[in-house]
Amino acid sequence: PLAASAPDARETFKALVVDAGKQGLISCDVKQVNAVGQLPRQDKEATATIRVRFSSLNYKDGMTVQGRPGVVTPPGKFPIVPGIDAAGEVVECSSGAFSPGDSVVVTGNKIGQHFDGGYAQRLRVKSEWLTLLPSTFTAEESMVIGTAGVTAMQCVMHLEEAGGLRPDKGEVLVTGAAGGVGSFAVAILAELGYEVVASSGRAEPLRGYFESLGARRVIGRLEPERRPLGQQLWAGVVDTVGGATLAAAVAQTKYRCGVASTGVAGAAEWSATVYPFILRGVRLLGVDSTLPCRVEGWPSDPASEEAYADERRRIWARLSSDLPKDKLRKVHGHTIGLEELPEWAGKILAGEVQGRVVVDLD
Ligand code: NDP
Repeated sequence: PLAASAPDARETFKALVVDAGKQGLISCDVKQVNAVGQLPRQDKEATATIRVRFSSLNYKDGMTVQGRPGVVTPPGKFPIVPGIDAAGEVVECSSGAFSPGDSVVVTGNKIGQHFDGGYAQRLRVKSEWLTLLPSTFTAEESMVIGTAGVTAMQCVMHLEEAGGLRPDKGEVLVTGAAGGVGSFAVAILAELGYEVVASSGRAEPLRGYFESLGARRVIGRLEPERRPLGQQLWAGVVDTVGGATLAAAVAQTKYRCGVASTGVAGAAEWSATVYPFILRGVRLLGVDSTLPCRVEGWPSDPASEEAYADERRRIWARLSSDLPKDKLRKVHGHTIGLEELPEWAGKILAGEVQGRVVVDLD
């Protein structure tokens, strides 16, 4: 327990708690807490306590901070501490997998969705969910990356492994390019030598930003594709938008190339034909960054938690080698405190955020 092993057991810590009052009114307050047990949604199987230094703001966090349905499970169950990402130091770890003082990062795993997340100065999770922070990155940099960077790297790895992605096949499309996932996808693909085309609703005002990340071309949002098979344009696609954008991207993907579907910033439903799949062998690759979950109500997977921990280590190793620091700094939009989260939650949901927002908990 924290009280026995924290640097100072009398120390209180800050946490942002979102609650739903009567008539569904949502409250979002920064509170002083004096034990992790006082936080509302602690994981009873947790084995490690983290002193959280930084977290980040993702689209999902924006939804939870505003009390919107769709992210918190069971649906609509509040109170909860949001924050799907966290970085900091291990305070104690009863499984023995980590030592006090180890710098660690955790992304996904339903923290901030099913369990209390990173918007508190203390976090308890299963030690299998932690990754030792590569020495390449500081804790703050790891939260610039956060779920967005992990997801972008996963998309690239899926496209390489199952989508036959190779630099000599032509242009690679990234949709929702100004967002967190999109920005990192542009940066990583460009670093790997791909001809990246950034598709954005803010193509003109942000042209310089996309080019600084390495985009070869910048285009507006994709128009719906009226024909089942469009012109073959893309050697790979990272799609964060969904809906008609995903349908158009699939219809324009080259023979036996891949489309990584990871986001829903535009729409969840999409209407398409099977022709790109059966006539062009296009590969549709789903990307889920939350990784394993043995939580009621969530789809589970027979793979072991250790297999996922290994996948997470491989993703962070690839981020260390394929995401240059100067690009990472360009994607870093703002650093904010817990108190500013309600305002920034509104901005990310309105599509007004460029790059990544880090939350400083110190
Ligand atoms: P951001 O809010 O940072 O970026 C989303 C981007 O999508 C915006 O910047 C905007 O880009 C574009 N966009 C916003 N609204 C619309 C719209 N109505 N139509 C078309 N494009 C729109 O979010 P993230 O990058 O953090 O996440 C992107 C998506 O990926 C979200 O849906 C998120 O839930 C999902 N996601 C999924 C994960 C997974 O594990 N599968 C993990 C992480 C995120 P622009 O201005 O350039 O057009």
